[in-house]
Amino acid sequence: MSSSVALRLPSIDGLLRHPACAPLAERYGRDSLLTGLRQLLDELRPDVLSGQLAAVEIGPEVLAGRVGERLAQQQRSQVRRVFNLTGTVLHTNLGRALLPEEAIEAVQMAARYPLNLEFDLASGKRGDRDDLIEGLIRELTGAEAVTVVNNNAAAVLLTLNSLGARKEGIISRGELIEIGGAFRIPDIMARAGVRLHEVGTTNRTHARDYQAAIGPRSGLIMRVHASNYSIEGFTARVATAELAELAHAHGLPLLEDLGSGSLLDLTRWGLPAEPTVRQALLDGADIVTFSGDKLLGGPQAGLIVGRKELIAKIKKNPLKRALRVDKLTLAALEAVLGLYRDPDRLAERLPSLRLLTRPQADIHAQALRLQPLLADVLGEVWQVSAVEALGMIGSGSQPVARLPSAALCCRPQVSKRWRGRYLLNLEAALRGLPIPVLGRIGDDALWLDLRQLDDEPAWLAQLPQLQVDR
Ligand SMILES: *Cc1c(COP(=O)(O)O)cnc(C)c1O
Repeated sequence: MSSSVALRLPSIDGLLRHPACAPLAERYGRDSLLTGLRQLLDELRPDVLSGQLAAVEIGPEVLAGRVGERLAQQQRSQVRRVFNLTGTVLHTNLGRALLPEEAIEAVQMAARYPLNLEFDLASGKRGDRDDLIEGLIRELTGAEAVTVVNNNAAAVLLTLNSLGARKEGIISRGELIEIGGAFRIPDIMARAGVRLHEVGTTNRTHARDYQAAIGPRSGLIMRVHASNYSIEGFTARVATAELAELAHAHGLPLLEDLGSGSLLDLTRWGLPAEPTVRQALLDGADIVTFSGDKLLGGPQAGLIVGRKELIAKIKKNPLKRALRVDKLTLAALEAVLGLYRDPDRLAERLPSLRLLTRPQADIHAQALRLQPLLADVLGEVWQVSAVEALGMIGSGSQPVARLPSAALCCRPQVSKRWRGRYLLNLEAALRGLPIPVLGRIGDDALWLDLRQLDDEPAWLAQLPQLQVDR
């Protein structure tokens, strides 16, 4: 039997009194330090008992260092800024639209002080939070009335439930779409208590199909903007104006879920045409729903606009209370909408529009500038080139349209069987940077689309820390 003295872990009390731990107690609090030390010692105990650890590995300085790392890790926020170099501008997984300064200031004000959220300053009586932005939205869309909820999915659910519960909702088979994240029109209809009455076919639906479906059980006609896919070829779709006429002839409301929707004609900035909310209302849609954080460029929200008596009915639904927006969202939304009063300056002031309209030449010049710097850090195994690339608007807007952009394209100069591993390692290394850099892998390369690289200094500053495993 070995006569060596069995190693013993230091005691918690001893560690807490040790000078190496004092700064940790100061920084993270005694309770957190104690919990951290207990966890670490519990984890190490089996290895100590089996003799797998040396005395130095369980010395107080080493243990303090390890606990310190853990506590620092725990304290780091889980909500982290990233660089979105995926090429998709309104990326749902990366938070969609970025807010303009005006909205950020408004959010700060709303966070810091009490405000007239549901208080009418003119009369001194209780107010309605929708009133704060109703005037502005009416002005920008031509709608009679407005209400705002947490997101567009909520807007669709609430509208369907308010106007069509226990009745039939008539909708084209070409519009029974899935938006992603388990938002499927047939399921939402069912949850809203509306019986789905599908008409037409996937590629072609005619006015006579809707006509034939209308009966005593009909509650509404719904139209959904096919935002994340496109049907091409032998297709037919009834124009909103014609469908509205048909709906109204039978006393039914026409709902239009525009998805992204836009308040202005985007073609004036060279972007693909997207239906505007104003036009949908002019065409006769009674209620139009759209997102706050897609092309609108604001905070997450669902906007419901349209006829006064229908909006009143929607606002009376108890679900409205469950789906309402908070004060921070309202503050941001008002500030963003305010920018739309001056369309000439919108592309300068609204980050999403500024990024979407950034000229390719500008992005390409940036790629040429950064190419040697990245090539230098990555070393010889990687071929880095500044190339033209195609990006996307994202969030289901214009799924087929591509945004001409430019990217840093990184190709590992290794045999084909190793390429995949190299690419994954580079991707992981970029993700591991203090401000994670997210690109996209495709065609045996990793692409960093620079359309959204605004903060070049911060990106460059962390580049020397990039360490790619082989
Ligand atoms: C994006 C989208 C939705 C959901 O909107 P959220 O704001 O993400 O909840 C609903 N309908 C359509 C057509 C969409 O494109």
